[in-house]
Amino acid sequence: IKSKLPNVGTTIFTVMSALATEHKAVNLGQGFPDYPMSEELTAKVAEAMRNGHNQYAPMPGLIGLRESIAEKVEFLYKTKINPDTEITITPGGTYAIYSSLTTILQPGDEVILFEPAYDSYIPNIEINGAKAVPLPLTYPDYKIDWDLVRSSITAKTKAILINSPHNPTGSVLDKNDIAELKSIVAGTELFIVSDEVYEHLIYDELPHESMLKYPELFERSFVNFSFGKTYHCTGWKLGYCIAPAAFTKEFRKVHQFNCFSCFTPAQVALAEYLKNKDAYLSLPRFMQQKRDYFIELMKNTKFDLLSTSGSYFICASYGRISEESDKDLAIRLTKEAGVATIPLSAFYHNQKDDKVVRFCFSKQNRTLQQAVERLMKI
Ligand code: PMP
Ligand code: GLN
Repeated sequence: IKSKLPNVGTTIFTVMSALATEHKAVNLGQGFPDYPMSEELTAKVAEAMRNGHNQYAPMPGLIGLRESIAEKVEFLYKTKINPDTEITITPGGTYAIYSSLTTILQPGDEVILFEPAYDSYIPNIEINGAKAVPLPLTYPDYKIDWDLVRSSITAKTKAILINSPHNPTGSVLDKNDIAELKSIVAGTELFIVSDEVYEHLIYDELPHESMLKYPELFERSFVNFSFGKTYHCTGWKLGYCIAPAAFTKEFRKVHQFNCFSCFTPAQVALAEYLKNKDAYLSLPRFMQQKRDYFIELMKNTKFDLLSTSGSYFICASYGRISEESDKDLAIRLTKEAGVATIPLSAFYHNQKDDKVVRFCFSKQNRTLQQAVERLMKI
């Protein structure tokens, strides 16, 4: 078979989670919580199944859920979204991003993105015959160098792929970034594909700068979200894409012949549960406590933590521990210390090694404690 993705192996999340299982390691690698999701939401799904909501949902998603999303967007970002024509429910955020890119890309197009980058982006671009143009974020604060963006735009640039809060670094866009982005795209035909799956995981009272807040940006955007991240149920693989009606029409052409529609009972449950504002407004505080607890514990180790303002990840350099490559260290940590992490080189097209690994802190305190006790021995 001629590979459509010749440069791609098995994703690092699969590799590290398998290694963690094999060595019975505490898994701070792949991003998922180890505590239970809401009882109330679980009960609502069971109830939806018992009530017979077990057949195909409408192709764009249950209208009740899309209406609840539109209400939530208006409450949070003061933007009116048409639930009928501008929201599509998808099987997860990754799929929503893939479909956004597939909707707009023609062979030969270029997409600007920022590295380190979530590992699905470049394959998503390349499988569409387009070219990824990865630009480095600044180090160590992992911000976008907007002058570099300006000088990297060519006649072939079709889109800019933004991710805030950012995986793996936890950096977030601020008002200045938004002003720069606005000035760069003004008067162009550039699209923005925005990955906002961590919209509610943002700390230190910072606001989430969604593309949905700015009409000049939203008019050219596909904005992608994940229920898995917000409601502690990554295994649900349910998310959504919000885009202007003309974009959504094309997005649904891709979506309808890929998965057609998503798991109905969860959509019925979420249509109701989304009205519970506290469930998402309480998230920053809940997760910030975990971040701060982990930072405090990690002071007892030789890892030097970088800062994180969002997502449930924090990066650490390990120069005081060894000179190994980040992959070698991540493997050794899993096997010898019993703690799995993600080496940051997995988020670079050229496997650049900053000697940094990523930790996921969306875990029970006792899990974090157990992990750090093990890391102290390294
Ligand atoms: N984007 C980023 C940056 C992520 O970290 C994740 C988490 N897996 C996703 C998208 C996709 O989320 P989902 O599991 O809903 O596909
Ligand atoms: N988003 C999660 C992470 O970055 C994992 C997603 C996946 O396993 N594909 O860890």
